[in-house]
Amino acid sequence: MEKAPPSICKWIQTLELGYSDVDKPPDGGICFHCAGRHAKLLKCARCKVATYCQRDCQVEDWKIGKHKLACQSYARVGPSMQIDDENDKQQACNELFGRIRFYVCPYAVHKATTLGRGFLFIQSDRTLATMSLTLPKDSYGRPTDNRALLIYYLTLGEFDAEVCREDFEMATVRTKLQEAVENYDEEDEIVILMRFRCGHVSLGTSALVPDHRVCKKLGIDYYSESTAAALQLNIDDS
Ligand SMILES: [Zn+2]
Ligand SMILES: [Zn+2]
Repeated sequence: MEKAPPSICKWIQTLELGYSDVDKPPDGGICFHCAGRHAKLLKCARCKVATYCQRDCQVEDWKIGKHKLACQSYARVGPSMQIDDENDKQQACNELFGRIRFYVCPYAVHKATTLGRGFLFIQSDRTLATMSLTLPKDSYGRPTDNRALLIYYLTLGEFDAEVCREDFEMATVRTKLQEAVENYDEEDEIVILMRFRCGHVSLGTSALVPDHRVCKKLGIDYYSESTAAALQLNIDDS
């Protein structure tokens, strides 16, 4: 068995809210290697998600190692485009947070100094499964989709007034969230709450990367002039 990569986040609570929206596969009509659009496509037998316009494209995609790396992430969601296993969900959240933590940690530290203790509320209008996929790139190396995360820094008061009022089910996580916000070590960690369109919600903490002193400095450099209410990050920018 493959050893799981070290966990970036410590998860405290996860829940599934009663949403049921499921994303469609990335694009039924696209070749994952040459990114050409075709009516008829072959499918990777392992993951049953990646499609190819011809056998040559499939072989090449595997040979250059592109699909070899991505196939597992596709296999995790399969043709149903859902992640079913609880550990897989946490792993997907880890990977996603790992891709953005260098941006969001300084943001959180900066906001905490100006607004007081709170947490990062990370939202996506995609499902967790779709956010966790490695998307194919076109022949110019550009990603074939744009997937954004909206990131807010919230205090508990703002969570009650702005989040729970619109989505009362989010109150389910309130007790643990309060505990986490009151107890996290500001010098070492941040609290994160992630919510996806499929209804998956994860509450956890993550170690500060880079360390507190550097985060503070970067936070001032990048965010002290900003008046935007939220940070928007495109996870497909490379
Ligand atoms: Zn092709
Ligand atoms: Zn595959």
